[in-house]
Amino acid sequence: MCIFCDIVSGKAPSRKVYEDEQVIAFKDIYPQAPVHILIVPKKHIASVVEVSDEDGPLLVDIVTAAKKIAEQQGVAKRGFRLVANNGPDGGQTVNHLHFHLLAGDVMGRMC
Ligand code: AMP
Ligand code: ZN
Repeated sequence: MCIFCDIVSGKAPSRKVYEDEQVIAFKDIYPQAPVHILIVPKKHIASVVEVSDEDGPLLVDIVTAAKKIAEQQGVAKRGFRLVANNGPDGGQTVNHLHFHLLAGDVMGRMC
């Protein structure tokens, strides 16, 4: 059982802001910034480590979705952060690949 697969199938609710053939995006339930959207491939991939060569077009779709969502949310010009936490040390808590789109505030540097 995977909570993001349940959101993709409609079994679990979400506050959806974007959807296309390969990707869904919805508001994070515990927002860490004024704009905090999760961009999730509909295909279950556990993490970046599980991405394969055939997922290339999917990754392009995710980045394109991030751009569209940033424009839709009115943050494309001021900027945003796109983050994928991976594994226990990376702080990943949901084992279905996803990218956090964070915006609406000046963010401290992490690296
Ligand atoms: P990560 O910790 O990087 O794996 O990110 C998982 C994110 O999913 C966290 O920021 C959670 O707040 C968020 N999250 C968990 N369950 C839900 C849910 N049902 N709807 C929206 N966001 C969720
Ligand atoms: Zn899943």
